[in-house]
Amino acid sequence: RAKRAGKGTWVVYEDSMGEAAAEQLTLEQDVRDALRNREFFLAYQPVCDAASTRVLGFEALIRWRHARRGAVPPSVFIPAAERAGLIVAIGDWVLEAACAEAAGWPAPIRVAVNFSPPQFLLPDLCDRVRAVLRRTGLDASRLDVEVTEGLALADADIVLQNMRGLREMGVRISLDDFGTGNSSLSYLCRFPFDKLKIDRSFVLNLGDDDGSRAIVSSVLSLGRSLRMTVVAEGVETSLQLQALQCDQIQGYLLGRPLTPDQARALLAQQATLAAAA
Ligand code: C2E
Ligand code: MG
Ligand code: MG
Ligand code: MG
Repeated sequence: RAKRAGKGTWVVYEDSMGEAAAEQLTLEQDVRDALRNREFFLAYQPVCDAASTRVLGFEALIRWRHARRGAVPPSVFIPAAERAGLIVAIGDWVLEAACAEAAGWPAPIRVAVNFSPPQFLLPDLCDRVRAVLRRTGLDASRLDVEVTEGLALADADIVLQNMRGLREMGVRISLDDFGTGNSSLSYLCRFPFDKLKIDRSFVLNLGDDDGSRAIVSSVLSLGRSLRMTVVAEGVETSLQLQALQCDQIQGYLLGRPLTPDQARALLAQQATLAAAA
């Protein structure tokens, strides 16, 4: 049996592979084609100051609209890209595109870029980042790199070296989806993070769940004592916002992921309001 897997490429499957495995392979092939054909683009979600709700920066989020599949969420195609060994190439593209866009925003508006764990294993990660900053003209102090707990602690040496190198350049590092992994606390001890992003699963039940409230307030005091900025992800309701004591907030209540044009318009509007005040 053969399936068409993108322009001019045919992949032959063993019957024994099963439908699911075959579909994974087609997906990986489609991701490879998407990278080559420049089908990826970025959306920018506002990150706001919790007290004033002013926009402090944006998180760059990758998007992919495939001719047959439609919009494929990153939670589906990023793992496929990792399996196919394409994540470093995609990561390079995301970083370059996000920094180029952010270089056009007024300082000190920041941009946050998600890195996959394999990117932190690259021996030349700092050189790559430095080259992108030089090419795009973005100051290192306006870049945040976000990473989840997928980092293997077994590779702690190279990961630590890369984190220290990035921070020496002035880049800040955020621990994303905090609380969802099973090693959150050991990560905090081993690696130097500037920011903690509380996963939205905890924010979701803030309004009416004592457990979530207790966890969020504990993470806050933990972050404070470790001198980290604490960000709440996934804030959707004003009830959740009122229940939060974080430094920064992100979520549909403050803003959905935007097109580059919409992000620029939001910044222009904010500047106009500030000038009028
Ligand atoms: P993340 O880094 O934790 O990004 C936040 C995700 O939550 C985004 O989903 C965003 O659209 C969504 N979100 C934000 N506010 C709300 C809200 O109020 N309610 C709800 N229900 N969702 C909200 P998205 O864009 O689908 O991305 C999912 C994940 O994919 C990201 O989670 C990140 O881990 C990964 N990802 C996205 N872009 C990239 C990228 O360029 N590179 C890599 N390696 N991973 C990426
Ligand atoms: Mg993130
Ligand atoms: Mg997150
Ligand atoms: Mg996430």
